[in-house]
Amino acid sequence: MIQYSQKYELLGQNILYKNAFIFVLITPFDPWKSKLCTCPKKYSFSPYTGCSHACIYCYITSYIPNAFHARLKKDLFKRLKKEVNKIDKRIYISMSNSSDPYTPEEKELQATRRCLKIFKENGIRLLIITKSDLVKRDTDLLAEMKASVSITLTSLDDKKIAKIERKAPPPSRRLVALEEMHSNGIPCSIRLDPIIPSLNDYEIEEIVKEASKYCSHVVTSTVKPRTDSLKRLSAVVPYFKEVKLERIGNSYYLPRNLRFNLLNKVEKACKKYGMTFATCREGYPFKAKTCDGSHLIPS
Ligand code: SF4
Repeated sequence: MIQYSQKYELLGQNILYKNAFIFVLITPFDPWKSKLCTCPKKYSFSPYTGCSHACIYCYITSYIPNAFHARLKKDLFKRLKKEVNKIDKRIYISMSNSSDPYTPEEKELQATRRCLKIFKENGIRLLIITKSDLVKRDTDLLAEMKASVSITLTSLDDKKIAKIERKAPPPSRRLVALEEMHSNGIPCSIRLDPIIPSLNDYEIEEIVKEASKYCSHVVTSTVKPRTDSLKRLSAVVPYFKEVKLERIGNSYYLPRNLRFNLLNKVEKACKKYGMTFATCREGYPFKAKTCDGSHLIPS
């Protein structure tokens, strides 16, 4: 819910709402005004509230009630059709940032697929971020759209990931999805996010090597839990009971030296396997055209 009490500039569009509370589906992306965010101007959109993948490090539980139970947004398609006509179509939509568009419920509900059709009809430029291989179901649509897909790949070990990204498909299936997207000409990137010391830090080079078969870009980030996700992480990864974390904004960060060493490992691996490299909310420099891989969206 956003309160517009005066003129509000929505990425170039001037919209006037007087003292009214309104709900909008497509909003300007603004990760809590983080000074470390390097994202280009983009819109954010999620068909679902909450996400049933239930990753233990996920921080949506700090601001979404019943966050690990995904539910469809009210009057989704009717409202989306109206809102796509009001946005600046030069600016891309990132789907999704506080949920996964291919949360397990999507298999049956097919809501994301219906949203893709609306976006396709309206010439919307789209960046999909997901942990699910269900995205390959929509290859037919995505191949005809101005779209790029970013798949999160945090490990190559299916058993390990089952404990961390509890209801998300295993990495082996995500790699198959990447292969299929790639072979259908859909530009892809990976999110090596989050890097969790003692859990996946020693896999960095192997992950980048596998991804380089199907993708050209890596965006990476070290783990940044909030208070509640830190409790969940500490219960599964003993490392978090020992390390002294640093508070930046609403999140806990690993010590700067450690973060930069980990990011440097990713950077070196990207160089070795011919991929562009970027970081997410780290303050670690990179040369890629965008952090989130949106430069891969066809124009
Ligand atoms: S897939 Fe993303 S939004 Fe969903 S639970 Fe995992 S981290 Fe949270």
